[in-house]
Amino acid sequence: MRTRTTGAIALAATAALTLAACSDDSGSGGGETEGGDDSVTIGIKFDQPGLGFMEGDTPSGFDVEVAKYVANELGYSEDQIEWTEAPSAQRETLLSTGQVDMIFATYSITDERREQVSFAGPYFVAGQDLLVAADNTDITGPDTLDGKNLCSVTGSTSAQRIKDEYSEGVNLLEQPGYAECVTALIAGQVDAVTTDDIILAGLGAQPSNAGQVKVVGNTFSEELYGVGIPQESDQCEAINEAITKMVDDGSWQEALDAATEGTGYVPNDELNPPEYEPCDM
Ligand code: GLU
Repeated sequence: MRTRTTGAIALAATAALTLAACSDDSGSGGGETEGGDDSVTIGIKFDQPGLGFMEGDTPSGFDVEVAKYVANELGYSEDQIEWTEAPSAQRETLLSTGQVDMIFATYSITDERREQVSFAGPYFVAGQDLLVAADNTDITGPDTLDGKNLCSVTGSTSAQRIKDEYSEGVNLLEQPGYAECVTALIAGQVDAVTTDDIILAGLGAQPSNAGQVKVVGNTFSEELYGVGIPQESDQCEAINEAITKMVDDGSWQEALDAATEGTGYVPNDELNPPEYEPCDM
């Protein structure tokens, strides 16, 4: 699959060396039609329990299940998938330099990101929310953050929205991942963590955090999770078909239920499962 992107990649002069190294590693390539020894490189989060989480060599979570299903529909078995960590701030670069073929990483579709990458999907809709200490009573939504210390992640829509719309009086600490933010919250270094509700629910339910934190439950955005693909990819339609099939055969619901079990998270059923967007956007 990766060789599809090679031409466009070669055009990116600054990335040429990186690309050559990547292409060499990727084996014969040639896409799904060649079958056999081909592989697909998929970017996921490694530190978001219930969504994208890596324990040893075993990834788990809803993003991972959707990724496996889609890869299978594109002709890749599970053992042909190479999982790569895709932190929030690195996703566009990973795609535009050809280091990954697809990203399933709580990756919101936005016009700004579409300037650098393309999206299939969405396959889920979440909403930005707040995680606070279990005994906190004064933070009830984004309008109650005046004078508060907040933590979010560099390169996320979550941090960007705070800067764009709620910056007055809010002190924003940016970290590479949300787990670091939750650690800061439990240590009392920040008053709240902000990102998508489903991410906060998964982190809040981790045994090391449970009982110490709570999700506020007052969402203030719609985050449409897309499958990130390079702009020159021709896989968008096929990915959308795969997602539709996953919803229709019940696997999507099953994966979502399993991923959120025990977290107290209730997906917004007016927005889920979402209709996919046209590929030419
Ligand atoms: N969905 C948001 C985003 O894509 C926040 C979660 C994340 O950082 O992965 O930026």
